[in-house]
Amino acid sequence: MNNIFVYCEIENGKVADVSLELLTKGRTLANQLACSLEALAIGSELAGVEDELFRYGADVVHIADDARLAPYRTLPHTSIVVGVFKEEQPQIALFGATTLGRDLAPRVSSALKSGLTADCTSLEIGDHSDNKGNEYKNLLLQIRPAFGGNIIATIINPDCRPQMATVREGVMRKEVYADAKKGEVKTIDVSKYLNDTDFVVEIIERHIEERKIDIKGAPIIVAGGYGVGSKENFDLLFELANVLGGEVGASRAAVDAGYAEHARQVGQTGVTVRPKLYIACGISGQIQHTAGMQEAAMIISINNDANAPINQIADYAITGDIADVIPKMIKYYKKNSK
Ligand code: FAD
Repeated sequence: MNNIFVYCEIENGKVADVSLELLTKGRTLANQLACSLEALAIGSELAGVEDELFRYGADVVHIADDARLAPYRTLPHTSIVVGVFKEEQPQIALFGATTLGRDLAPRVSSALKSGLTADCTSLEIGDHSDNKGNEYKNLLLQIRPAFGGNIIATIINPDCRPQMATVREGVMRKEVYADAKKGEVKTIDVSKYLNDTDFVVEIIERHIEERKIDIKGAPIIVAGGYGVGSKENFDLLFELANVLGGEVGASRAAVDAGYAEHARQVGQTGVTVRPKLYIACGISGQIQHTAGMQEAAMIISINNDANAPINQIADYAITGDIADVIPKMIKYYKKNSK
């Protein structure tokens, strides 16, 4: 059975979280398919990077280590990935739906004529039969919202290989593999795949802006929606988040209305979060929002509409106006935590 490949993004020797999340998912899929999970690490000064990739479940790590391969440039990375895939013929190839992955994966898929599903929210293995009587076993089911989130589509590649998908950061869980072992390291001979023309684009200057707001790792998120009513009203949410030691998130409607920064947006086109506690204030609970927070360990909703869809996934639903409820929460939390 052909193997599963994960393209691993590496910056200054650090493997991106999304790549470790994909290795965790890839490990589950590889166990189901009884095949090997292979990580592809392309960059410069990669000594030791394989240890982390093995910890997250890789059986084999392919390493292309060359000073010209960092920072990332489209053409050399594409040439190496396409070259390796042509030789190894993976059945599945996974990339992060990051700026880099969105640049690289479509080029690879186009070169291999393989098809690609972007921004999957779930990946499973399953069978498929079409209405011509063809039966397909063990396909990668590439699941994602479609048509503006009105349906959850399952997309398959019955014939073309590899079956390629991208997944956004935070969508899959990242877990050190319990049965991890030191696997095999395969050194890629980059001269086999690279041409001078791969280096026509030169990097003259590189500027990296650190994220100022990062709600992804917050254990508690107080998120506000359009129902919060104004940017000023969001101060109440910041106060509650402060008291609880959490961060403030927002729905897209709140971001579009200018109540909160885009970096705080939770959902399909925002960040995916898995906090211990998610307090949804004035958020109706449309699928594009819940896709980014439904894995929270506990959800409390505060909404003046008892029938708001968010209440269907909430562990506790408080029916009321946020202007009444949140000050009480702050007051009683402070009182009880003395
Ligand atoms: P509304 O739906 O307007 O809900 C406001 C809620 O506040 C209501 O339930 C109301 O009862 C309640 N309310 C009003 N006043 C009060 C009050 N005083 N006290 C208490 N409750 C009150 N949305 C996202 O959030 N994230 C995404 O990433 C995202 N991506 C999208 C991608 C696509 C392709 C599309 C088409 C849409 C996307 N959306 C996304 C938008 C999504 O469909 C919804 O429009 C949005 O989530 C609604 O935000 P909301 O719940 O804050 O606003």
